[in-house]
Amino acid sequence: MSSSLPIHSPHCVVGVIGGGQLGRMIALAARRLGVRTVIWTGGLEAPAVECADEVIDLPFDDAQALQDFCSRVTVSTVEFENIPRETLEAVARSTGLHPSPSAIAICQNREREKNFLREMQIPHTPFAVVASAADLAVAMRELGGPGVLKTADFGYDGKGQIKLEGHEDPAEVWAKFDAPRAVLEAWVPFEKELSVMAARGADGSIVTYDPAENRHRNHILDLSIVPARISPAVKLEAAAIARRVAEALDYRGILGVEFFLKTDGELLVNEIAPRPHNSGHHTLDACVTSQFAQQLRAVIGLPLGSTRLLTPVVMLNLLGDFWQDETTPPDWLPLFEDREISLHLYGKRHARGRRKMGHANIIGTTTEAALARAEALKARWLAEGAGAGE
Ligand code: AMP
Repeated sequence: MSSSLPIHSPHCVVGVIGGGQLGRMIALAARRLGVRTVIWTGGLEAPAVECADEVIDLPFDDAQALQDFCSRVTVSTVEFENIPRETLEAVARSTGLHPSPSAIAICQNREREKNFLREMQIPHTPFAVVASAADLAVAMRELGGPGVLKTADFGYDGKGQIKLEGHEDPAEVWAKFDAPRAVLEAWVPFEKELSVMAARGADGSIVTYDPAENRHRNHILDLSIVPARISPAVKLEAAAIARRVAEALDYRGILGVEFFLKTDGELLVNEIAPRPHNSGHHTLDACVTSQFAQQLRAVIGLPLGSTRLLTPVVMLNLLGDFWQDETTPPDWLPLFEDREISLHLYGKRHARGRRKMGHANIIGTTTEAALARAEALKARWLAEGAGAGE
């Protein structure tokens, strides 16, 4: 493939903007390939730091950092999307950035994301854009019934969201809601939440992973169950929609498409993540190619790897509330005694209630068997954990 870099050359250095656990797992996948990484992160305690070859520890709008980063890398990617547009554009011009700044810009803002889905006629939750109390009044009337008001920028894991029953006073709600722009979404009484990881390569070829069935706890991903317990038709439809999203964004790299599956079988896109995603962590132990290795292949310009699922699996997120106190992890012994669980920790020194500290991939002969073991571990750790505070 003409656009691929020679991976074993010292000139193949992948730059990663962001230093969280996703960056850490990209860096680990790069190590296995003998590819060097430069991580640009906001703080030296970031999870990716100890796994990277080089680190730039300066804000994402720092001109010197930008110059340093671009001079050290051959090609770049992001591990989270809230990066200033100017930085993304400059990196793209200098090193090549996959996914592109325009794809990231669409996914980093709910208003742009929803408008994109509407324009592309990709099924999505009914919504209205809100920039004032008057807009909110109109939006509440038009959508009718319950909804969720979400900030346009910087929202994730349920942050910057409030549920509305539909009878609140719009002026009061808007006065309390601390954001200049928002999106009001209709409340979707879904049967399940699903996600599909898809990757699009340098040559435009697309692969998709088996859909994951996702369960949340306090708005944060708790468990992903793969294969999802859904009909073959819904599986095909979810994969087809993820492909359409990747095509429409002219995407290069891995992306996660999150869905609501309604009781009537209809799929609606909720969100698009322009990067590896928490609901793809099972691919580390249960698929031929992990989502992180896949990202590197796409970014470097190598052919994409197989997405084949090798075994049923449940990914259990290890949140800080399993920790006995801020620095004492749960008792790992029952996990290791199981023998079919892989533990992945992100090296975070301090646990807080909602913080993602790691995950465990629990494989089994059936999803039900894996799920039962995941639930047992979770119940035990929640009972023993002090629920390290927020
Ligand atoms: P988000 O940050 O938009 O992914 O929302 C976090 C979680 O809140 C989702 O995974 C759903 O469980 C729930 N949620 C968000 N939007 C809606 C909606 N329009 N209808 C029903 N549940 C929602």
